[in-house]
Amino acid sequence: MQITNIQNLVLSNLKHYFGYDSFRAQQKDIVETLLNKQDCLVIMPTGGGKSICFQLPALSFPGVTLVISPLIALMKDQVDGLNANGIKASFFNSSQSAEEQEAIIEKVVAKQLKLLYVAPESLPGLQNILKETYISCVAIDEAHCISSWGHDFRPSYQQLGFLKASLSNTPFIALTATADKATRDDILKQLQIEHAQQFISSFDRKNISLEVRAADNRVSQIVKFIRKRPDQSGIIYCLSRKATEQLAEKLSNNGIKAKAYHAGLNFDQRNKVQEDFIFDRTPIVCATVAFGMGIDKSNVRWVVHYNMPKNIEGYYQEIGRAGRDGLKSHAVLFHSYADVIQLRNFASGTSNEDVQVAKIERMKQFSEATTCRRKILLSYFGELLAENCGNCDVCKNPPQFFDGTIIAQKVLSAIYRLKETEAIGMVIDVLRGSHNAAVMEKGYTQLKTFGIGKDIAWKDWQHYIIQLINQGFCEIAFHKNNALHLTEFSKKVLFEGLKVSLTKPTEVAEVKQKPAER
Ligand code: ADP
Ligand code: ZN
Repeated sequence: MQITNIQNLVLSNLKHYFGYDSFRAQQKDIVETLLNKQDCLVIMPTGGGKSICFQLPALSFPGVTLVISPLIALMKDQVDGLNANGIKASFFNSSQSAEEQEAIIEKVVAKQLKLLYVAPESLPGLQNILKETYISCVAIDEAHCISSWGHDFRPSYQQLGFLKASLSNTPFIALTATADKATRDDILKQLQIEHAQQFISSFDRKNISLEVRAADNRVSQIVKFIRKRPDQSGIIYCLSRKATEQLAEKLSNNGIKAKAYHAGLNFDQRNKVQEDFIFDRTPIVCATVAFGMGIDKSNVRWVVHYNMPKNIEGYYQEIGRAGRDGLKSHAVLFHSYADVIQLRNFASGTSNEDVQVAKIERMKQFSEATTCRRKILLSYFGELLAENCGNCDVCKNPPQFFDGTIIAQKVLSAIYRLKETEAIGMVIDVLRGSHNAAVMEKGYTQLKTFGIGKDIAWKDWQHYIIQLINQGFCEIAFHKNNALHLTEFSKKVLFEGLKVSLTKPTEVAEVKQKPAER
């Protein structure tokens, strides 16, 4: 009887304060769990509707719901939105004066607030009211920030671990759009809510086709890709500010309307690019990862990664900006070893280098996969896909293997003759018998392996060598100028007759794909 009353009240609040007639998947269960004072962990993609999960229960609790959020810049907007809906909400952060902060604390004590947004670093200022008499619920938004396993670790989040100790009977709800299994477990542990009920939405975005391409002639590949899709809106993610500008310029030179976006532009410039994109005046934006947060554009038809993202969470979040309307959309990732090396350099020397390097490695494995890419992606988020997706490049063009033993022997003996001192480019030059200055200068024309691979194109050699690296037959010595080194398996190929399977270069697959794409 009582429960039914609460349910009715909650439903009428949903309509009255938020204007929605019904719950979306999971929202109802989450709201009920919280109202039953149980802790929750909510993993839901961006745009899934996480806010309601704590905003609605907040209306039914006697005290205030504390909302921990890292984005001070967005707090005011969120609070304004709630106030406009007739909900008593406020925020507490370092942008306010001592008097303003004091006034807010008084409101909490007088039970005049339903929601209070606070930045984690401002929590100490609320110490006197962190008591169950005042606080009815704690919501931790962007909860992955607490975990050094997450991709956006923030030290200020660590102090949240102490909250549960003083609020042991208060329900906690941790929310995030991106967390792999390890991060998820870490969130629960750090927040001391190990027994929380977990609500994990499906991460499968079936309407987005997945494709990975080798990063040669990226610009002309992108130009072709865009010309096949006139009038479509898309985002191209690059690693550096400079790259976004250069690419936008190259596209413009090819008659394609594109603008650059990065954190180095001033507020007005960024705003303009963003608005022109949202209102379809600029169909294409070349951007760093700074672009996209908080952008609600439903008809983005494709996302291209010009450079490799530094982890799967980021990649997933960025491709997720395509196809919000549920229509067919494309994600194309360019895979390049130069990017892998650069990402490792960025990670080197940082406090959580190990974690970052492991994540780059996962990203690399995803790019090199010869199994359904969606399966890999979803399993990363702890979801199992029973069947191959049929909507990724691997599913559409399953790789054809051929006997690549002789190719492998040629590469490995070239590496051997070069005394494991040269990187991929020089190894290929030697195989192809190039007479360029570096080759001549180093006297490589005298080597026994010089020119034994003239018959195979430069790009194809690259394709084969990368596969040999992936299969462990040779390796890149990242700390020694990226020289190619032999491994224990090299010997088996060179001296013990071990057979090597390779796939044909991707061009073959692309030609097959063309008619269907038109
Ligand atoms: P998230 O925080 O998960 O990114 P939001 O809470 O901002 O998502 O919600 C995303 C959008 O979905 C918002 O525009 C919101 O108004 C809408 N929304 C959320 N819940 C519902 C619902 N039950 N019915 C209709 N629209 C909803
Ligand atoms: Zn697939």
